[in-house]
Amino acid sequence: MHIQIDALNFIRAFEPTLKELLRSKEALQFDSVGGGSINHAYRVKAGGKSVFVKLNQPKAYPGMFAAEERGLNLLRAKSPFQIPEVLKTGETPELAFIVMEFIEAGVPREDFWEGFASNLAEMHRHSHDSFGLDHDNYIGSLPQVNSPSDSWAEFYTAMRLEPQLRMARDKGLVDVTLSKSFNRLFTIMERLWPAEPPALLHGDLWSGNFMCAASGDATIIDPAVYYGHREMDIAMSQLFGGFHKSFYSFYHDHFSLENDWEERIPLGQLYPLLVHVNLFGGGYVQQLRSCLRPYV
Ligand code: ADP
Repeated sequence: MHIQIDALNFIRAFEPTLKELLRSKEALQFDSVGGGSINHAYRVKAGGKSVFVKLNQPKAYPGMFAAEERGLNLLRAKSPFQIPEVLKTGETPELAFIVMEFIEAGVPREDFWEGFASNLAEMHRHSHDSFGLDHDNYIGSLPQVNSPSDSWAEFYTAMRLEPQLRMARDKGLVDVTLSKSFNRLFTIMERLWPAEPPALLHGDLWSGNFMCAASGDATIIDPAVYYGHREMDIAMSQLFGGFHKSFYSFYHDHFSLENDWEERIPLGQLYPLLVHVNLFGGGYVQQLRSCLRPYV
């Protein structure tokens, strides 16, 4: 009921804007879209055209959609993927919104996984002078700080693992033993990662964050963009399944991964797992322990 009221307020306040974006004077049709974890998502249709709209409460997630817009724009500019164009963002004291191009779902082409891998490899080739980003954003519904660093090990420790570990400890989700194991990991972090230049990352590349577009190619959505070690996207893609195994060999053909990359998958999964512990509770702690075990 609460969601409906928010949506109705949104339609009332922004009907003229949405009609303008849809270039239609017809009545708007509002259909709820499932699958998201945080925001209320809708397909808004008029005159045979559609836009995709997400809504949330700006007090709970300040600046979330502005950051999503910047992230999507960066990926649109620097990657060969078809990325939805952001048409408008804004907020009232009660409601924040983002309106973007609606991606019609299609049937995967025969070379879907190869195309996906090649586009990701090309995107990862975009580098930067440091790890991080010129603005902070979100990972899921949690803030993600991107202060730059010249060292990936330092960035991963200070900007990714430590803040999430602190949060998990404060919530009583992680015990002293696990916390000590992380501290031991931090002391050897530098030698665990092969040196690589900062790579433009999607940052939250699990199977819920790509879609097959009408063209039959993969499109990536809902990013948590930053410049990081490219094995982070690879590790995230393996956390909950959904990527075909050929994806990894195609990726490797396009942009070869450093030796022993598979052994570092659990290392890269520590961050999304800590995020999951903080978002969804202690059920993920066991998996977190298993990922930590090979290193400490
Ligand atoms: P949340 O920010 O709440 O996690 P998502 O951005 O993941 O929401 O979007 C929720 C769902 O809506 C996705 O799983 C996908 O199915 C669909 N979706 C996302 N972006 C678009 C788009 N531009 N066009 C059409 N459908 C989309």
